[in-house]
Amino acid sequence: MLEAVNQSGNRFLLRNAQLISGEIVDLRIAGGEIQQLEQGLAEAQGEVVISAQGNLLLPGLYDHHLHLFATAAAQNSVACGPPNVNNQAELRSALAQAPGNDWLRGVGVDDSVCPGLNARWLDQLQLNRPVRLQHRSGMLWVFNSQAMAALNLSQPLPEGVELDGSGQPTGRFYNLDAWLGQRIPKRPADLTALSQALARFGITHLTDAGVNNNSETFSALSLAQSRGELRQKLLIMGQPSLATASLPVSSKIGLGPEKIYLREVNLPELEQLVARIDAAHRQQRPVAFHCVTLVEIHFAVAALAQTQCILNDRIEHASVADDYVLQQMATLGVTAVSQPQFIYERGDRYLKEVASEDLLNLYRGRSFTQAGVAFAAGSDAPYGSIDPWLAMRAAVNRRTRAGEELQGNEALTPLAALNLFGGDFMHPGGQLRALAAGQPADLVLMKAPWQSIEKNLASDQVALTFCDGNIIYADSQWA
Ligand SMILES: [Zn+2]
Repeated sequence: MLEAVNQSGNRFLLRNAQLISGEIVDLRIAGGEIQQLEQGLAEAQGEVVISAQGNLLLPGLYDHHLHLFATAAAQNSVACGPPNVNNQAELRSALAQAPGNDWLRGVGVDDSVCPGLNARWLDQLQLNRPVRLQHRSGMLWVFNSQAMAALNLSQPLPEGVELDGSGQPTGRFYNLDAWLGQRIPKRPADLTALSQALARFGITHLTDAGVNNNSETFSALSLAQSRGELRQKLLIMGQPSLATASLPVSSKIGLGPEKIYLREVNLPELEQLVARIDAAHRQQRPVAFHCVTLVEIHFAVAALAQTQCILNDRIEHASVADDYVLQQMATLGVTAVSQPQFIYERGDRYLKEVASEDLLNLYRGRSFTQAGVAFAAGSDAPYGSIDPWLAMRAAVNRRTRAGEELQGNEALTPLAALNLFGGDFMHPGGQLRALAAGQPADLVLMKAPWQSIEKNLASDQVALTFCDGNIIYADSQWA
């Protein structure tokens, strides 16, 4: 089929697609848009007919919170510790088999695998490329000689550069991230593989939630789109400076909220915070608070309550939220963007480590929607899985990896779980966009009708993903 697509100028007739309302329609795609949506459309010349067979057609899904370059860097790094790598032989072969011939980045170095790992050990592998490996603690990097050469080391060396008996660097650098960062050639990670993986899940829209995102980040992501590396549309959160920078904004990339990172141990003065929110709002820019503790979310809500106006402000994570916070968020019209997949991925640890009274307020679900809070989700990748279907399942079954239930009374319906990845860039959550003629053709065709998808919220049910009328993912059966 894809050969035919290349000759069609991306004109499609999707026949017998089921909308989430249950209605069966035909849908004509041309010029990147949904041109017609009705029953019984006649085939036009030169268009590719796709028989949807009564299967579900959704608007393209949103990942409302992730960190693109960090996720790509993590995906392009070699795992150097358990459970993947458990001894020196396994480390040797993992590094030797790493694809590419430029900088090799490894993570998770563990002393049980190779105690005292240094440049001499790495040089023996004769990899003929610069290698840098991060210790699992995050406090130590180990370089080979070729990587060290790129650092252009000169005296005096900072504290943290380990030296051998003859005063030569061993390749071990402790707590020197900022110093190393200035010396290593910086090239943003390639986003091709990540974009493809997200397309496979039906994701057409991404919000990069980096607190440090600046105009350079914005331009790098815009460039990744124009090079065709990144096929999804983007919203970029970040620093206050973005509001006044001249940015390459387009229909594919836009400016998102100002990200405010609250840390319970170091909260700002409330008046300062209110002034900061007001300043962002005067530029018509909403704010998005990072809140993972109850104190942080109370503080954010208190500040929002004192601001002069409310835009589409958001609380990211909202990991712990009590009933008072839910009421306040509903009153203020503040959206919650959460990560239900942590129930699955981290739930067993939560059950062991979180006090039982706090468990009641941890990663709530139904309580948000019942309180009338717009409730949405994002993967928070690289800290969580990029698979939205995993998050939907966890929001519905509230099960940990080991199968324990975490607050089953917070379970969402399958439709409410799907809605987490709907809304639009500036209004996350709520309901899925109703498909209509004139919209950009950002669509996901599933392999089954809703009646079966709702019992099986799984990524392998995605058949085709369209973005602006282009097929950005096709399951092998459909290609
Ligand atoms: Zn995040």
